[in-house]
Amino acid sequence: MLQNYEKYLTMLNEKLERFFAKQEPYIFCKKGCSKCCKNAQYPFSKIEFDYIMEGFGKADKYTQDKILKNIKEIKYAQFKTKEKPFTYKCPFLIENECKVYEYRGIICRTFGLINIDKEGGTDIPFCALEGLNYSNVYDKEKHMISSEMYKKLNILQEPLAYNVQYEFLTDEDFGKGFGFQFGEIKPLIDWFE
Ligand code: SF4
Repeated sequence: MLQNYEKYLTMLNEKLERFFAKQEPYIFCKKGCSKCCKNAQYPFSKIEFDYIMEGFGKADKYTQDKILKNIKEIKYAQFKTKEKPFTYKCPFLIENECKVYEYRGIICRTFGLINIDKEGGTDIPFCALEGLNYSNVYDKEKHMISSEMYKKLNILQEPLAYNVQYEFLTDEDFGKGFGFQFGEIKPLIDWFE
């Protein structure tokens, strides 16, 4: 089953690489920037969880211990705050580095692009507000991509939104086509009982 999921990931990665390459003038992701991994819920389907745990199994003991400690601390914070929705720093992020990068979830792979939301609107990455992705065309007052700012940049490629919504990418029909099921979806931390 995980082998079939890997085939799906190969297809998805190729697609996302093309999208990121096309949007290159607006993308300021760089190694060491882990803003996307610091305060979210991180939806994970069962197959994604099994896959990330395969990555965990391949990590060295020191890293595994750190991840387990992070999980314990997040669980404790979740128990104490009872916040809904509960957001947290991903337990796999250590010293600003994803320790299971090849095994990361689908949501992690789509971070940073403009996403077409369920209603056909657009979701601009939050880091636009922090001077990162799309900040060169993002109007902070109007909360939208600005055509005036785009024109001033004088570049050919316009900013585009893509259908990389998590619900769409984890549609069971996609899985069936590759011979696997995504299974139940819940926040990453909730997979750790
Ligand atoms: S799995 Fe890796 S990429 Fe995904 S949120 Fe966690 S640290 Fe970030």
